[in-house]
Amino acid sequence: MPRPSYRTRSRKRVKVKVPGGRLTIHYKREKAKHARCSKCGKPLSGIPRMIPSEIRKLNRTRRRISRMFGGQLCAQCLKTSLKQAIRAL
Ligand SMILES: [Zn+2]
Repeated sequence: MPRPSYRTRSRKRVKVKVPGGRLTIHYKREKAKHARCSKCGKPLSGIPRMIPSEIRKLNRTRRRISRMFGGQLCAQCLKTSLKQAIRAL
């Protein structure tokens, strides 16, 4: 019986061939939560739901959107905050 924290279906099971020749089950980390907008809290699109070690393997363009504040603000919030900033001038 695996230890209690591994007894959940939200952890992915991977069959791994060990040096002795046996197949054993290894448990991957739980999937990360969505990256969210820091202003409204909506989930950001275009940012993968991966754990940091998997994100590091992606190339830079797949990690976040190449817009200003990409990965921090959603498109609507950026639009409104830019408008506000310009009107405040
Ligand atoms: Zn937002």
